[in-house]
Amino acid sequence: MAANPQEIRPETLFIDGRWRKAVSGLMRDIVDPFDQSLLAKVAEGDRLDAREALSAARRAFDESDWPHLPGTARGRSVAALGHAIAKDRENLARIESRDTGKTLEESRWDIDDVAEVFAFYAGLAGESHDESVPQPSPGRSSRLVREPAGVCGLICPWNYPLLQAAWKVAPALAAGCTLVIKPSELTPMSTIRLAELAEEVGVPRGVFNLVLGPGATVGAELAENAAVDMVSFTGGLVTGRQVMRSAATTVKRVALELGGKNPHLVFADADLKAALETVMNGVFFHAGQICSAGTRLLVEDTIYDQFTAALRDRMARIRLGGAFDPNTRMGPLISAEHRAKVEAAVTAGSREGARLVLGGTRPDDPALGRGFFFLPTLFLDCRSEMRIVQEEVFGPVITVERFSDEAEAVRLANDTIYGLAAGFWTRDEARIDRISRLLRFGTVWINSFNVYFAAAPWGGFRQSGVGRELGRAGLEEYTEVKHIFRDLEPHPVEWF
Ligand code: NAD
Repeated sequence: MAANPQEIRPETLFIDGRWRKAVSGLMRDIVDPFDQSLLAKVAEGDRLDAREALSAARRAFDESDWPHLPGTARGRSVAALGHAIAKDRENLARIESRDTGKTLEESRWDIDDVAEVFAFYAGLAGESHDESVPQPSPGRSSRLVREPAGVCGLICPWNYPLLQAAWKVAPALAAGCTLVIKPSELTPMSTIRLAELAEEVGVPRGVFNLVLGPGATVGAELAENAAVDMVSFTGGLVTGRQVMRSAATTVKRVALELGGKNPHLVFADADLKAALETVMNGVFFHAGQICSAGTRLLVEDTIYDQFTAALRDRMARIRLGGAFDPNTRMGPLISAEHRAKVEAAVTAGSREGARLVLGGTRPDDPALGRGFFFLPTLFLDCRSEMRIVQEEVFGPVITVERFSDEAEAVRLANDTIYGLAAGFWTRDEARIDRISRLLRFGTVWINSFNVYFAAAPWGGFRQSGVGRELGRAGLEEYTEVKHIFRDLEPHPVEWF
């Protein structure tokens, strides 16, 4: 199938304020996951393009006034970009839904969140982050100032293309860094639009650079190249480890937002109706392709049968379809390769004894036959040591374990190498206090799940990552702390 002629876009690398082709001249097909139709052809960059972009970002950092502007001036650029995004909301949402297959309504929420992130960091940019340090003796003064970390390599995943980009770009610009961003090769279109908007609102030349292309070349260059001061990566655990290893060669600052296998606990005293709805939302938005999806459900013994029967019933009614059909509740997975991984995980789960009671296959509706769809899948009677419970599936798959008391619930919930997020449902105040302290996760939700917003930091304990995005902490990631000491009454120590 041919792409619309205006979607054949060889000049989709944005380097040093210019739109250009890949040095190699290569292009990549961008495919709609709903029906595999060709959405666009875009430039396919490689290491040479990444190096040029890094040189531009380095020059802009070392030679332009961008890092030295008052925070309020940079805040105005960040705010302008946020306004431009808000104004382009419907267009951006449509771009995102075509690229990812997620429903248009979900994409609209994403774009609203993106605009909120830019507004939040625009405000923080204007605040002073300097501190004074108490002195052990008089006649001295110390100041701590936060300075921009430098040139940042930003590597993004395909599940929330623009949102994950915003979590990096907005604080990086607010802090005074310059950047080269690489979206996932599967979903570059909204990040191309972001670069267009950055150009339109006048972000200075060389400050914001975009290179498209594979992780193994463009991504690896951003992690390895000595011109980069900081690499911020969102993606899978295995790739994250590789990025950390590459960054070690030049001891870059590293921020990693990796996967999760997030527990969602339901106690017998909970509001079970609200819990059931939230368990559904926690897993099946964007077909489960969410790092914080609550895919490990833990249910108290006494309500296990009743709760899982209701869950199965609700899951069986999830409507699959295209992103632009208002009745659709769940779209396809991102690609054939990703669906094959989800299928392999489900087969392995059945083989190790998890009881498959719903889904586990592709839908048989011929209308969905060309899309990368997979049915909502429910495994009961799971045990913590099973791979299907321990490994991130990143699809519409939920496993259920039972627990008999609070101590067992907490032990099972914490039994994971990840530590991104967890949630639990109870009405018992004392238990709320105990459990929220005992769960070892970067975010803990009480009678809620998957709530995030610009002002609250986001990130993982353990192998879910290093550092934080969002909140004030998300800005500090893009800064270096400098201690400026002054002796007000110098008395040289005459030692030598
Ligand atoms: P991925 O690791 O396959 O790819 C992420 C990005 O890294 C892509 O841009 C890719 O091109 C690039 N990349 C691949 N190999 C590279 C290399 N050797 N060096 C540098 N870059 C390389 O992840 P994905 O499949 O795009 O995204 C899904 C994963 O992202 C899931 O594991 C999910 O949990 C995680 N995720 C985490 C968060 C979070 O906030 N913690 C948010 C969204 C997604």
